[in-house]
Amino acid sequence: MMLKLYNTLTREKSEFKPIDKNGKVVKIYTCGPTVYNYAHIGNMRAYIFMDVLRKVLKYNGYALDHVMNITDVGHLTSDADEGEDKMAKSAKEQHKSVYEIAKMYTEAFLKDIDELNIERPEHIVKATDHIKEMEEYVKEIVENGYGYETSKGIYFDTSKLPSYGELSKIDLKNQMSGARIEVDPEKRNPLDFALWIKAPKEHIMKWDSKWGLCYPGWHIECSAMSRKYLGEEFDIHTGGVDHIPIHHENEIAQSKGATGKNLARTWMHVEFLLINNGKMSKSLHNVYTLEDLKKNGIEPLAYRYLTYSSHYRNKLNFTWEGIRAAQVSLNRLRELTLQHKGVRCDIAKDKIEDLESRFLNAINDDINIPAALAVVWEVAKEPIKSDKYYMLLKKFDTVLSLKLDKEVKENENEEYPEEVMEILKQRKIARDNKNFEESDRLRDQLKEIGYLVIDSKEGQKLKKV
Ligand code: AMP
Ligand code: ZN
Repeated sequence: MMLKLYNTLTREKSEFKPIDKNGKVVKIYTCGPTVYNYAHIGNMRAYIFMDVLRKVLKYNGYALDHVMNITDVGHLTSDADEGEDKMAKSAKEQHKSVYEIAKMYTEAFLKDIDELNIERPEHIVKATDHIKEMEEYVKEIVENGYGYETSKGIYFDTSKLPSYGELSKIDLKNQMSGARIEVDPEKRNPLDFALWIKAPKEHIMKWDSKWGLCYPGWHIECSAMSRKYLGEEFDIHTGGVDHIPIHHENEIAQSKGATGKNLARTWMHVEFLLINNGKMSKSLHNVYTLEDLKKNGIEPLAYRYLTYSSHYRNKLNFTWEGIRAAQVSLNRLRELTLQHKGVRCDIAKDKIEDLESRFLNAINDDINIPAALAVVWEVAKEPIKSDKYYMLLKKFDTVLSLKLDKEVKENENEEYPEEVMEILKQRKIARDNKNFEESDRLRDQLKEIGYLVIDSKEGQKLKKV
C-alpha cells in the first residue's frame, strides 16, 4: 500500500519514496526544543507527531536515520533577529549559568518524551557542539555570494535567491513594499536575516571566529547539523507550522546558498494546540506542562491519545473536560483490549486482513490517525473475544504507542496535592498507632476539602467527591 504524505513545499499529498537507492533508509530532521524552559503540551504535540511519523515509516518496513537538534544557543526572543538570546535571558532570571539551564531543561525534555512513549531519534545533537560546522557553513554561503558583512554580523542576502519564500509562498515584492521602515539600515533587504552575529561585550555565549567573537543565528544550526549527519539532501523535515515562514524558509535559503540544494524533499508541519480555543500564553496562565496534567490525575499517554482526535494538519483544542474524557476513553480501550488477551478463538483470515488493510490505509493516507483509531476501536469492541484481535491491537499499538495492554487500576493516575498527601500520611501513622480518634479527625478533614478515604486491604485509597 502506497504511503502518501502532504508536503508543505508543494501543498500536495504525494507518494513517498526515499532518496536511498535501495529504498530502505529514510532520513529525517526534526527541529527540536529550545531548552530555556519546560516544554509545554503544545510543543509535545509536535514531538508526538514526529514519533508517529517514525512509527508509520517503520510499520511500512523502512529503517530510520533521524536527527533532532537541541537549541542551546542563538534562538532570540523573536524568531527573527531581535531581542535577547532565550537561553541567556532564562539564565539571568534564574541566577544560573546558560549551561546549567540547558542541562536542566534538556533532561526535563527527555523525561517528558519518555513518558509520552516517544522513541528517541537516532541522533540528538546540541547546537553548541557544532559551532565550527556552522561557521564553515556561513563561510560557504559568503563565498558563494549569498552573504554579506555589516557591523552587526553576517547576513543572508535574500534578493540573491529568487526562490526565497517558496515554502511559505511569501510574495516578496508585496512584503518589501509593505514592510515597515527598516530598523537596520545596513541590511540590504528587509527580509535579510542573520547567519552569524557579532557578540556585544556583555553577551555571554560567544565563540572566536573569522569575524571575531560571534554567536550563530538560530537558523544556521539546522542547516549545518542536518548536512553533517544526513548529507546535503535528505527525505523529510518536520516542525511546527510556526516554523514555515521564518525558520524553515531561512534553512532552505541557507542550504541553497551553500550547496545549491533544497535540503529536504518533503516538509511536514504540525498545526498548533489551542487552549480553550485560544492561544497558550504565560500572561493568561494557561501554559500547561505534562507535570500539570499529572498533578490533575492525567496520565501523559492520555494526552497522546487526545492528540489523536485531530489530524496533525488541523488545530487541536485542549480543555480540561476534553483531557479527562481522553483518559476515560484510553482506560476503556485498554480494558477492551485486555478482554481479548489469551482467549483461544479463531477468527476468519479475511476479517483480520480487512482490518489490517483499513488500518494501513488510514496511516498511509498522510498519517490519518483519527481514522486509524476508529479501526482500533472497532477491533477492541468486537463482541467475539479472541487472542487474534489482541495480537492485532498490539500490532496497531506499535504505531499508536498507547500501551494498550496496560492494566487499568483504580486511582492509578491520580496525583494528589501535597497537602492531601500529608494528611493521608499522618492518618496512616495514627492508624498504625491505633489512634482511631485522630484517624477519624483526619478523615473528616480530608472530607471537608473534597476527598473521601476508603480503607482497603491495600491501604488507604482516595476518591474525589
Ligand atoms: P520551541 O522549543 O519554541 O522551538 O518549539 C518546539 C516545537 O514546538 C516547534 O516545532 C514548535 O513549532 C512547536 N510548537 C510551539 N507551540 C506549539 C503549539 N501551541 N502547538 C503545537 N506545536 C507547537
Ligand atoms: Zn530548525
